[in-house]
Formats: sequence, C-alpha cells, structure tokens
Amino acid sequence: MNVHDSEKLAGLLESKGWISADSIDVTDVVILNTCSVRQKAEQKVLSRLGRLRLMKLANPHLKFVLAGCMAKAWGNKLFGQVPYLDVVVGPGAFTRVPELLEEAFTTGNQLLDVSERDDVFTLPAGKIRNESQFHAWVTVMEGCNNFCAYCIVPYVRGRERSRPGNEIVAEVRTQVAQGIREITLLGQNVNSYRSERGDFPELLRDLDPIEGLERIRFTTSHPKDMSDALIHAVADLPKVCDYLHFPAQSGSSHILERMKRGYTRETYLERVNAIKQCIPDVALSTDIIIGYPGETDEDFQETLSLIREVEYENAFIFNYSIREGTEAADLVDDVPIRTKAARFQLLLREARGIIMRKNQCLIGESVEVLVEGAAKRGGGKLMGRTRHNRVVNFSGTAIQGTLTMVRVESASPNCLYGYQIA
Ligand code: SAH
Ligand code: SF4
Repeated sequence: MNVHDSEKLAGLLESKGWISADSIDVTDVVILNTCSVRQKAEQKVLSRLGRLRLMKLANPHLKFVLAGCMAKAWGNKLFGQVPYLDVVVGPGAFTRVPELLEEAFTTGNQLLDVSERDDVFTLPAGKIRNESQFHAWVTVMEGCNNFCAYCIVPYVRGRERSRPGNEIVAEVRTQVAQGIREITLLGQNVNSYRSERGDFPELLRDLDPIEGLERIRFTTSHPKDMSDALIHAVADLPKVCDYLHFPAQSGSSHILERMKRGYTRETYLERVNAIKQCIPDVALSTDIIIGYPGETDEDFQETLSLIREVEYENAFIFNYSIREGTEAADLVDDVPIRTKAARFQLLLREARGIIMRKNQCLIGESVEVLVEGAAKRGGGKLMGRTRHNRVVNFSGTAIQGTLTMVRVESASPNCLYGYQIA
C-alpha cells in the first residue's frame, strides 16, 4: 500500500512538471513516505532524517517532506522532533503535496496537512508511475473499520471507503493498454468492498474479461468476512490467481479474542478448509504477530500448530509493537523479550521448512510464469513469477510481459530454478 502511495505521489508530481532525480545528491526535494504499523518503521524514518540533516546544511534550499501514516500519527510533534522538516502531509491529503511544496518554496514556512480529503482516489488513471513494467497496484478501498486491538491503521487511514467500481475498471483498462499484465487490488479488507457495481466478487467478475490482462491478485481478505462468493470467484475466474493472503495473526482463540479479530482458531480453520476444498491448488499466506500481551507458551504452541496445519506458502512474522492510542496499548506487555525472540525464531524456522518442502515438491513439475525480465544475479537467465507468486529464475527466450511454461529443476526457500518448455 505504501509502495503504491509512493507511485501515486511520484505520478502526481510528474504531472505537475517535477522530475524524479537519479540521485539524492542532486535533488531539490526529498519525500519520505512513511508507515506507522510498527515502531521500528517509524524509528527508521527518524534515523534516516537524522542522516539527511547534513544535506540540508550543505543546501539550505532543499525541502524535506514527510508523507504518510507517521505524519497523521505524530502531527505537529514531528516539527519538534525534526525541526528542519518543511512539509508534513498525512495519507488523506497527499494530493496536496505539489501545492504545499510550492508554498513551502515561496514562503519558507513549515506546513502541515493531516486532514482527510475525499479526493484520494481521483488521481487520473495513467498518471500513476508504476515501479514495474508489467505489474500494477490498484486501490479499491481506503481506510479500515475493524479496529483490531493492536492496530493503528484505522486511526491513521480513517474509516473504510470503497472506490467506485467504474473508476477501478477504467484504471485497469488504462494500465493494461499501457502494457500492464498483472494487477494487485489493494484494500485493508477487500471483503467489505461495496460500490455501484456490487461487492468484491462482482468486481473481480467485471475485471476478469479485460483483454490483455493476464493475472489478478488482491490483498487483504479478512478471515472474519471471507465469503463463499469470494472463494467461488477465485475458483471460477481464470485470471484470478489461486493465491490468498489470509492473515491469521495467531493460532490461539484466546489471543484472537484479545486482539478483537472477530474469529476463533476453529472458525478460521473452517474457512481455510472451505477455501482448500473449492480451490484445491490454492496457496495461502499469513501474517503472524508474536509476543502479543498475554501470549502464553500454550498460545504460542497453537500458533505453531496452525502453521503446520494450514501449510502456508508464505508467512510474514512480526514482533508485537505497542502503538499508542490503540486498545492493546493499555494491556501489559508481559511477554519477556527473550521469550519473544525465541518464539520468533521457532516460528520462522517452521514456516521456512514448510516453504522449502513445498518448493521441493515442485521439482520436475511445470509452472506457468509471467516473465518480468533478466534475473538479478542470473548469468543471462530470465526471471518471472508463478501464479503462487514464487520467483522463478530460468533459461529460455521468452519475451518480457508474456506467460510461459517452465520446468522446475531445483529449488531454494526463496526461488525456483528451471528452463522454459513452451
Ligand atoms: N488489513 C490487514 C493488515 C494490515 S497491517 C489485515 O487485517 O490483515 C499489516 C500487518 O501488520 C498485520 O496483518 C499485522 O500482522 C501487522 N501489525 C499490525 N499492527 C501491528 C502491531 N501493533 N505490532 C506488530 N504487528 C502489527
Ligand atoms: Fe488493522 Fe485489523 Fe484493519 Fe487489518 S483489519 S488494517 S489489522 S484494524
């Protein structure tokens, strides 16, 4: 989501005549687009700004913009912490960045806008600067109404708003006309999407027939709202990849209740089983929070066993981070640091073992790959991704942006290796 916000911001500034600099040494403006989900992300921004301070001493005309969720979470306090910041702009007001920059250059004032405007979706299709030539992120919703006890998102991104379906379809068509072959639809909880074109499964059905588009992905499906209609849409629609990010957060019903996730281990597993039955070749990924207040060894064992039972293709594991203003911030952070670290390592090892086993099962199989270009350290090889979003390095002559079949010869935890067969 943050990467895509940066793409929108870059596109917006370019449409106003700004040019992105090749190097930070020759730039007039530095924009840091920030995340507040965990404290570590915020600390990184502050230390980066500390390092950038020298640039400002050397070039007093340089402007620093801090954009995104940290702007919203910290507000004016940021000017106290980083006195040489020029513009602080929240995620709900980033369309004002060009205007604010102009004002900062003419007046030299420090400016803040953390308001929530209703034009966050109005960046015209075609103005977004995609990082990738073949893949585009597409916003379908903003904000979140769920208020999971640990999470700052609803406070910094505001209430849930669905983007009009016609705009989404128009944007995808424009992107495809410009060469995009794969899209990922973005929302904090796509299952609660509603627009004049209907709900999320209906939106998928509207996007699937678009000619030239090869693959559709989306994130995130909240387990409490995962509907049979969505599962069937993923199963039925040829372009929708059989890969679902389905974040459990914990395998213990006791912790899930304290997290206010709205499901139990049992109801989560019931949905997983429904998904697996309807989409036999499905790949599932998850987010897990380790060391949530009150997490006992038993709770942790339940998370370990959930990972084993579901056999995720990918697991993103995070240490619990206290976020001021959330409900969980009032709970006692009672899991000792060493216990958290040990649990983190155990879970990581387990998750990696599963991924490695799954990758090894693919040796000798053929997989469909969307070719992205030359492999990074690939000695002339090509790189692409499978429908399950696994990276594949392979030898062959396929053209970038096309689908090709690859026979898998070997596997590492992060990559498959093979050769083109069609
Ligand atoms: N809407 C998505 C998640 C968005 S935040 C969902 O509900 O799944 C991305 C991930 O960050 C979350 O899934 C969670 O695992 C993690 N996260 C959020 N708040 C956190 C916190 N306070 N500490 C640690 N991890 C957190
Ligand atoms: Fe945060 Fe929960 Fe909303 Fe996801 S669903 S963004 S975890 S509050």
